[in-house]
Amino acid sequence: MQIRLASDIQRDSIVDGEGIRAVLWTQGCAHHCRGCQNPSTWAFDKGMLVDIEDVLLALDELEGQDGITFSGGDPVYQAKECAVIARYAKSIGLNVWCYTGFLYEDMLKTEERREFLNYIDVLVDGQFILEEKSLSLYFKGSKNQRVIDVPRSIKEKQVCLVEKYKNPITYEQPKRRDEYIYI
Ligand code: SF4
Repeated sequence: MQIRLASDIQRDSIVDGEGIRAVLWTQGCAHHCRGCQNPSTWAFDKGMLVDIEDVLLALDELEGQDGITFSGGDPVYQAKECAVIARYAKSIGLNVWCYTGFLYEDMLKTEERREFLNYIDVLVDGQFILEEKSLSLYFKGSKNQRVIDVPRSIKEKQVCLVEKYKNPITYEQPKRRDEYIYI
């Protein structure tokens, strides 16, 4: 079995989910969101085909990573292949995040997507909407997107957001000049 990736696995990301993470950049996305940061990952015939076995070996070699994030492109177009990788990632102790332009509700519509969902801890769902863009959101680009606690959502049969990432980021403003730190 092979998966189409946009690049090699990235390590040490701190912006694609909680902690220090490896990122699997999948190739192919038909959502074509205006303002997408990765339009080079849209084409379904570009990137490179990689044996799943090689991806699993690469996961074995990861050091110092809290988890793996599926991003792209949209990983859900390759849900079957991603499910195999996500299942293995969980088995070696990595937590799993996934970014998708589909909605959580769309993930329930096919067996392959449901299988993938079973191994995802956090799903950031929904297309990027430029008019809803904000730089004050945890791990998402636009306000319509949701940072979803997947195990809880499956258990409760409804979308449950990750509590600590529900609200926008707030920054404490220094009150006095001597509270600033100069490096
Ligand atoms: S779903 Fe993601 S990768 Fe696809 S077009 Fe939208 S922002 Fe870009």
